[in-house]
Parts: sequence; structure tokens; C-alpha cells
Amino acid sequence: MDVRKDFPILAGNDLAFLDSAASSQKPEMVIEAMDTMLRSGYANVHRGAYRLSAEATDAYEAARAKVARFIGATSPAEVIFTRGTTTSMNMLAAKWGADRLVAGDNVVLSVMEHHANLVPWQFLKGIELRFARLTDDFALDLESVAELVDERTRIVSITGMSNVLGTITPVDRIREIAGRVGATVIVDGAQLVPHLPVDVTDLGADFLAFSAHKMLGPTGIGVLWGRPALLEEMEPFEGGGEMIDEVGLYESTWAPVPHKFEAGTPPIVEAIGLGAAVDYLTGLGMDAVRKHDVELTGYALERLATMPAVTVYGPTDLEIRGGAISFTLGDVHPHDLSTILDENGVAVRAGHHCARPLMDHLGIPATARASFSVYSSGDEVDRLVDGLKVAAKLFDIRQ
Ligand code: PMP
Repeated sequence: MDVRKDFPILAGNDLAFLDSAASSQKPEMVIEAMDTMLRSGYANVHRGAYRLSAEATDAYEAARAKVARFIGATSPAEVIFTRGTTTSMNMLAAKWGADRLVAGDNVVLSVMEHHANLVPWQFLKGIELRFARLTDDFALDLESVAELVDERTRIVSITGMSNVLGTITPVDRIREIAGRVGATVIVDGAQLVPHLPVDVTDLGADFLAFSAHKMLGPTGIGVLWGRPALLEEMEPFEGGGEMIDEVGLYESTWAPVPHKFEAGTPPIVEAIGLGAAVDYLTGLGMDAVRKHDVELTGYALERLATMPAVTVYGPTDLEIRGGAISFTLGDVHPHDLSTILDENGVAVRAGHHCARPLMDHLGIPATARASFSVYSSGDEVDRLVDGLKVAAKLFDIRQ
């Protein structure tokens, strides 16, 4: 994929940036769209009767429509703009979870969830949390999901792609299991949506959450997609301006979906940026994006396998994994490893990756993680391996 020239930060910078799962870089198209909006199109939305505000509103709603098309939603009203995946998950835990579940009900998650799809559920009092296991090859163990789901399961909330292991989960199969007891299926799509073609009409989810900043868009905005009937049923998360219909001193009524979930001035410029990111990804084609990920991940796994002291945590089967590769080098602490890699011009993330229980499950304190986006290259993988060799030598690890 020959797109590096589209990313100003990468041009003339010889850093091998391998931390796109944390946040991706932005193409010129996104930067320009936001710049133009700020310079000549900016006003608050849904408020002013003057032309500039009406045009800003049209641009904001056009961005919503782009996102809806991108994920195959049948109507833009199914797309709620939030602050990001974290806010989307908190909204669901509070309004689809706490508001509706009763003591004795349970929510099924997995051991590889990001804290964003774990901690909000811990806020629920009297609700049992259950955790699906992984197979030996780091796939989601569907038998374990089936064992955990019972007639008191109200919600099954699982990542579409693990930010640590790269594991892609079979949402259609999860749906099948959850459907037997009428449980709602929530998918944390923070890593899924940036990397795979997603069509919500056949994904199998009832709700899908994702963040713009991981898919070439800006920070400060994300999405909660939901089935229309469920969004109608769900109560607002925040109260304030924009989300109301009638307001009295003691009672109010809500604006229609999606506006009842968007209290206050929304991230206007960020929505335009997300719309541009979606245009950019659509231009590349999500099938091509996935193909690039698979090829690069395959190449990286092959190269890492040539170093016996490297342990990779994640599926070997490329069909069920994306381009987030967690690894350790002998007993070198991942933080030390990432510092040495940085000194050699390679940026990787080290730590628990906001998935502490997964680290416990794997029996390790942390991993180093290399992760890819559309601009990542085989050359960067080579530089990662070269950096690892330098580290191995430094720590006297035999190769
Ligand atoms: N879930 C997953 C799988 C993630 O990778 C992340 C970001 N690391 C999140 C949720 C949280 O996303 P955000 O910080 O954008 O809210």
C-alpha cells in the first residue's frame, strides 16, 4: 500500500512508527478537512438560524451519514457521536446495563477485554460478571462462551479485535449463543472497525462502539452504533442542551434519536475530520486495508519466528488475527525493550495495554506491542527485528 506520502508526519521522519493500535497518524485529507472547517465553515450546529450555522449543521450531519454508510447502517440516526469507545461503553453499561438489569442477572465478557469494556461493567451493583476464556492459540473459546451464557445473561460484550493479541472474534457465533437466551450483543470495535470491512447488518451486534483516532481520524470523537429499536428504548446518558424536546422546571422530554444521546455542543470539527477519515479509508477500500494488514502481520510473524528468544502472544492463524503483535524478548522487561527500540528509531508500546486481567491470565506483567496501520511497511518490520537483535545482544540473550 503506497500511502505514506499522504501522511505528513511520516514524510521526512525516519521513525518506524509501530504504535497505531494506540492511535493512528492522520492523512493530509483529514488535516485539511478540519483546517478548512475551522478557517471558513465553523459555527455551532443545530442552533443558529443564520447561514453559517446551517452549513456547519449540514456538514456535521453529512459526516454522520458517511459513518453510517461506512459501517452499513440503514440510517444515519443509528450513529451516535460520542467522545470515543470509552464513552460509548460507559453509556451502554449505565443505560443499557445498570438501568435495566436486576440483581442476579449476569454480563458475559472475555478475559482479553480492554479496561474500557471491563471497568464500566464493574460499576453495576449486584450483577455478576463472567469471563470467557481463550483457546491455546489465543482465539476466543466459544465453548466457554456457551458454558457461561444462561437464562440470566442479559448482555454479552466482547471485543471485535483484541488490542493486545490481535485476536478477531467470531461475532456471528457469539450472536448465535447470546440469541438463545435473548441477550444483547455489544462489540467493542475500537480495533475492528479501523482494520476490517464491517457491515452492521450482518455483523451480529446490537451495539458497536469505536473511536475515530484509531482509524486515521481525530481524537475527541467516536461512535456508538445501535439497532434503532434499542436506541429508542435506551434512556439518555447525559442531560443538557441539544438533547431535549420540551423542557419544564421539573420535567423534560427528549429529542429524537440520535440527538437525545448528544447533549451539549458536540465535537463539530472532529466529526468533519472523522468524515474525511472515512472517505480516505473508503477510497483505499477496506478489503485492501485488511489485505495489507494480513500480509504485513504474516511477514512480521515470520521474521519474529526467526528469533527463538521472542515469544509472540496471539493467534498464529492470520484469518483470525489483525496487526497488533504482542511479544516479549527473553526476560527483558518490555519497558526496557521499548526504550532500546526507541533509541534505534522504532516506536512500540510497552505495558499492560489497558488489559491488566489479560496479563494476569497470560502470567506476564507486560508485553511490547508492534501494531500497524495502512501506512506501515515491511521495512519498518525489518527495523523492528534489527532493533530486537541489538537488544538481545545488549542483554546477552543468545539467538
Ligand atoms: N477497546 C479497545 C480494544 C481499544 O484498543 C481501545 C483503545 N486502546 C479502547 C477500547 C478505548 O478506546 P478510547 O481510548 O479511544 O476510548
